[in-house]
Amino acid sequence: MTIDDVLFAARAQVLRDLNTRGTDSAKVVDVLDQVVTERRWWVEQWPDGAEFVAGQVAQDVQDRMLDGGLGRWPRCIACDDTSPHELRIEPELGPEPHWVCEKAGMTVAALGSL
Ligand SMILES: [Zn+2]
Repeated sequence: MTIDDVLFAARAQVLRDLNTRGTDSAKVVDVLDQVVTERRWWVEQWPDGAEFVAGQVAQDVQDRMLDGGLGRWPRCIACDDTSPHELRIEPELGPEPHWVCEKAGMTVAALGSL
């Protein structure tokens, strides 16, 4: 896979999960595109990190949405805890990233399959 393919696939996975939760507003898609652009440099410097990039993009988008007042994404709706909390990517830096609820200690879905 070329770097373009890797980044395109990562963008598509994250966009799918944004879309599933109805959080794919123009502002959020701008954040996503900015993150993907910045991660290009990272994966160019470290080609072995290609299979980790989707998880990195998801975490970057998550952090920037929170910092930018765009809300917590994705909210956990999988467990019994009714206090608002978001899912986290695991592994933080690794292949086959998936969403987990840290409160319940459960895996919720693969990235791109929320
Ligand atoms: Zn939860």
